[in-house]
Amino acid sequence: MAIHTFTDRKESQPKNTASEPSVDIKDFDIPELQRTLKLAGLLQTSLEIGNILEYFVDSVRDTVPVAGVEYKFDDLALEHNFGKTERHSCAYRLRIAGDNLGEMKFTRNKKFSEDEMESLENFIYHLVYPLRNAISYQKALKAAQMDSLTGINNRSAMDRSLDREVELSHRHDNALSLLIIDIDHFKRVNDTYGHSAGDAILKSMANCFKETMRTSDMLFRYGGEEFALLLSGTDVEGARQVGERIRNAVQTYPFVFDGKDLDMSVSIGVATLGRRDSASRLFDRADAALYQAKKAGRNQVHSQARGRNT
Ligand code: GH3
Ligand code: MG
Ligand code: MG
Repeated sequence: MAIHTFTDRKESQPKNTASEPSVDIKDFDIPELQRTLKLAGLLQTSLEIGNILEYFVDSVRDTVPVAGVEYKFDDLALEHNFGKTERHSCAYRLRIAGDNLGEMKFTRNKKFSEDEMESLENFIYHLVYPLRNAISYQKALKAAQMDSLTGINNRSAMDRSLDREVELSHRHDNALSLLIIDIDHFKRVNDTYGHSAGDAILKSMANCFKETMRTSDMLFRYGGEEFALLLSGTDVEGARQVGERIRNAVQTYPFVFDGKDLDMSVSIGVATLGRRDSASRLFDRADAALYQAKKAGRNQVHSQARGRNT
């Protein structure tokens, strides 16, 4: 299957200045013009990539018989599929001014004619600029939720996820647990080896946690050397086990800086959502458990056990 590269016509086609063709009003297909104008307007109304694609696909289908439309954009791990994928396809790599905007594939059970492909390209022409705006917006949103040092979710992402997960957990009566993880004596690392050693340890610590947790667990760096792990569908016993697994993993993980292997440990506070708990109450209880773990000598997991009916 050949993949065509779609670039803006203004960039890809040199303008013919010698003899501009005159345009006769009869050359326009008025209903099609109305449709594309309507589409151009609609595409400006959203910065949600899913919405934009939906408007686009509806509009394409009014003009060209298409069974399936697939859109993929690896940079944001996006994949949108509309309709059913069929045997014949026509695919485009979307690019504007060097910006990669992903790939789009149209399929159906009959070959696309030259005229139909031209029509599809017309539609894509209206899609690419709104799509680029939406992609920039979604990338900015994603960056705002990310901790730049470790690449994991930041405090703002944690606040949003905590609120959402607590609400879901209450609605569906699911268990929800929170682990707060604080590196022990982290100040010593900075004081002994310098700030860049501290930074390197923070990155390794995030990697150590990622290797130890399940993919469904949500990890955040919410403060300097403080991390949180949100476990959906996990009760206090399960959460304690995860805490112990992480505590052990940290003790055996190779935290190497400048050829030196540093011994690190973490203290962990665990709390499970009670029936009347808010997100901040859950957080405060995990934090109180962490305080107990520190007070009891560090390198420990403490929990605030609370049943779902309390
Ligand atoms: P404890 O066992 O009681 O938790 O002791 P601690 O030394 O880990 O805790 P404390 O709160 O005294 O010190 C935390 C240190 O973390 C102090 C601060 O300079 C350091 N820190 C916070 N954010 C960063 C960062 O982004 N990079 C580096 N290198 N250090 C950081
Ligand atoms: Mg701390
Ligand atoms: Mg600490």
